[in-house]
Amino acid sequence: MPTTQTNAVNDRWLNAYVAMVAIVAVAMTTVVFAMEACLVAPGKLTYVCIFAALLVIGETRNAWFRFGDGGEVTPGWAFAFSIVLLGSPFIAIAAMAACTLFVDLRDRKAANRVVFNVGQITASLAAGATVLQLFGLKEPLTDAGTPSSGFALAILIGGGLVFTLNGVLTCIVMAIHYKTSVRSMMGRSFFLSISADGALLALSPIFVVALTFSLYMLPLLGVTALLIYQSTQQALKRAHEADHDSLTGLLNRRAFDQHLAGFLDSNRDVERQGGLLLLDLDGFKEINDRLGHQTGDSVLKGIANQLTRSASEAAMIARLGGDEFAVLIPAVESDTAMMQAAERLCNELAQPIAVDGFPLSVGVSMGLALIPRHGRTAEEALGAADIAMYRAKRYRTGVEMYRTIGSRAEKGRLGLLGELSQAQATGQLQVHYQPLTRFLDGAPVGMEALLRWQHPTLGTIPPTDFITLAEHTDLIGPLTQYVLDRATTDARDVEKFDVRLSINVSARNLQDRRFPSGVFRALDAAGVDPSRLELEITESAIAREPERSLFAITGLREAGIRVAIDDFGTGYSSFALLRDFPVDRLKIDSTFVDGIAQSLRQQHLVRAIVGLAKGLGVDVVAEGVETEESWLTLAELGCDVAQGFLICRPVPLPDLVEWLEIRRSMAELEQGVAS
Ligand code: C2E
Ligand code: MG
Ligand code: MG
Repeated sequence: MPTTQTNAVNDRWLNAYVAMVAIVAVAMTTVVFAMEACLVAPGKLTYVCIFAALLVIGETRNAWFRFGDGGEVTPGWAFAFSIVLLGSPFIAIAAMAACTLFVDLRDRKAANRVVFNVGQITASLAAGATVLQLFGLKEPLTDAGTPSSGFALAILIGGGLVFTLNGVLTCIVMAIHYKTSVRSMMGRSFFLSISADGALLALSPIFVVALTFSLYMLPLLGVTALLIYQSTQQALKRAHEADHDSLTGLLNRRAFDQHLAGFLDSNRDVERQGGLLLLDLDGFKEINDRLGHQTGDSVLKGIANQLTRSASEAAMIARLGGDEFAVLIPAVESDTAMMQAAERLCNELAQPIAVDGFPLSVGVSMGLALIPRHGRTAEEALGAADIAMYRAKRYRTGVEMYRTIGSRAEKGRLGLLGELSQAQATGQLQVHYQPLTRFLDGAPVGMEALLRWQHPTLGTIPPTDFITLAEHTDLIGPLTQYVLDRATTDARDVEKFDVRLSINVSARNLQDRRFPSGVFRALDAAGVDPSRLELEITESAIAREPERSLFAITGLREAGIRVAIDDFGTGYSSFALLRDFPVDRLKIDSTFVDGIAQSLRQQHLVRAIVGLAKGLGVDVVAEGVETEESWLTLAELGCDVAQGFLICRPVPLPDLVEWLEIRRSMAELEQGVAS
C-alpha cells in the first residue's frame, strides 16, 4: 500500500502528539518530584520494595502494551498505584517507566511508540499522584491515623484519573494513527478495558492496607491480584473476540463497519482521501470442496497474513466473512497510486501459499473505491467497492476501481436492486427472443428468451448488469419465474413454427427446491409441452452446488424438459461436467466462435468439442455467429445449430413472429423453385 504525502502529514501529526504527551509527562513528573518531601516515607521502604518487585514481575511477564490495542492496564498498575498511595509517586512512575521501556525495547517497537507508551504511563500516574497531593494526602492510607472524610473521594478521583487518562491518550493516538474519529476508537472494548483497569486500580488501597497490616498478607494479596487480573483478561478476551475474526485474527465485519463509519465521519469535509479495498478469492468454493475445509482455512489464514504483511501499518484489515476481505487505507495520494498499489498486492497474493508443504495458488479479485469521493457513508463506500470488485471478477481483470459510469453506477448496486423488484410490477421488464437456426438448411429450430430492462431514466440496462446482481439475492427466483411465465405464454404464438423455447437459468434457481414446480406451473398454465422447453445452465452455475444441481436437472429431464450447457468452455470444469451431468446440448461460447475462420487454434478446439459432443450423443450450438465466414467454418466443423447477429438479433415477440413468417415464406419459395 502506498506511503504517500498524506501519510507523511499524518505521521507529522502523530509525532507532534507523541512529543506533546512526552512533554506533559516530563512536566508532571517534575511537579510530582518537586512536591515530594522525600523519595520514600520513613518506615515504608519494605512495602515500597515489595510493591516495586511485584510491579516488575507483573509488567515484564505480560508485555501487554501494544500500540493500537487499547492500552490495557496490567497488574503492574495496581502495584504502581499502591506505591503512590504509600507516598512514593516518583518511585512508582520511575519503576513503571523503566519496565515499559524495557519491554518495548525488547520487542523492538518503533521509537515514537516507545516514547508514547512511556509518556502515557508517566503522565497518567503523575496525574493521579497530583490529585492526591492536591487533596493534601501524602500517604493517604498510612499516615493519616483516622482517615479524613475526603480521603476516599481523593483516592477515587486519583485512581479514576489514572486509568481514564491512560485510555483517552491511547484512543487519541489510535485515532490519529488510523485517521479516524476518537469516538469510533472508543468502541465497546474501550469501556470494557476502562472498567477492567478500574477494577485493578481499586485493589491498590486494599493492597496497601493489607500489607501494612501484616507482611503475612502478601500471598493472599498475590492470589487476589491474580484472580482479578485473570477475570478481567477473560472479559477483555471476549471483547476482543466480539470484534475479531477467530480464524484469521483480523477485524470482523461489525468492527470494520464501525471503523469505516468513524473514518468517514471524521473525514467528511476534508479534501484528503482514503481508499477502500474489497477483496474476494476466486474459486475458493472449489478449494473447499475439493481439498477440504482445513485447506480452505489455511488459505484464508495465508491470505490474511499476506495482507497484513503487504498493507501499510495504518491500514485496517478485516475479514468480512467467507472469502471476502476488506482493507481501509487512511490516506491515498491519487487514483493511480492506489490502483498501482492494489495491482502490486494482487501480484503478491497470486504467489503460491504453502499449505501443508504444498504450494497453492489462489486468484483474487479486488474492487477499489476512494472515500469519501465514492461514498459518504459506510454503506455507500462498501457498495461502490463491491461494484468494482464484481466487475473485476466478471471481467477477470484482477483489480478494478469504482467508476461513476453515468448515473447508473452512481445509484449503486443496492439502489438498482431496489428498483429491480419494482421494475417487474411496473412493466419495465420485457422478454426479447433470438432465433436459433440449423446449419444444415438454415431452418429456425429454437428461440432463446433474453430479458431486457427498460429503465425510465437510465435507458436499457443489459441483463449482464442486473441479473448478476439479482443472482446474489432471492430476487432471481421471481425474475426467472417471470421469464418462464412470459416466454411460455409467448411460445403459444409461435407454436406453428415448431421452434423450441430456451430459457436461461441461474445457479440460485437450481438450488431452490421450489424451482421445478415453478417450471411445471408455467408450462401447464400456457399449455406448452415440456419437450418444447430447454433450460440453459452455465458451467459455473452447476459447479457451485453440483449435487443439488444434478438433482434438479435429473428431475426436469425426466419430465421431458431439455437441458443445455450455456457458454460451454468458459467454466472450470467442462470435462467433469460432461462426465457427471445428463445434458442434451452444448452451447459453445462466442469467445471460441468470434474470428474462428481466421484462427486454426479455435478451429481445433471447436472440432474437439464437436467430436466430444457427438460421442456423447449431444448436439452443439455455436453462439455469437456474426459473419458468413464463421457460419461456413462452423458448419464444416460439424456444429448443428447457429445463434448470432448474422441470423437475427434478439427482438420483441411481434418482430420474431414476422421474422419467422418471412423465413417460412422464403423456404417455401425455395422449395417451390427446387421442385
Ligand atoms: P447467453 O445466455 O449466452 O445469451 C447470449 C447473449 O449473446 C445475449 O446477450 C445475446 O444478445 C448475445 N448475442 C447473441 N448473438 C450475438 C452475436 O452474434 N454477437 C454478440 N456479440 N453477442 C451476441 P444478452 O441478451 O445481453 O444476455 C447476456 C447474458 O445474460 C445471457 O447470455 C444470459 O447469461 C444472461 N441472461 C439473459 N437473459 C436472462 C434471463 O432471463 N435469465 C438469466 N438467468 N440470465 C439471462
Ligand atoms: Mg443463454
Ligand atoms: Mg451463452
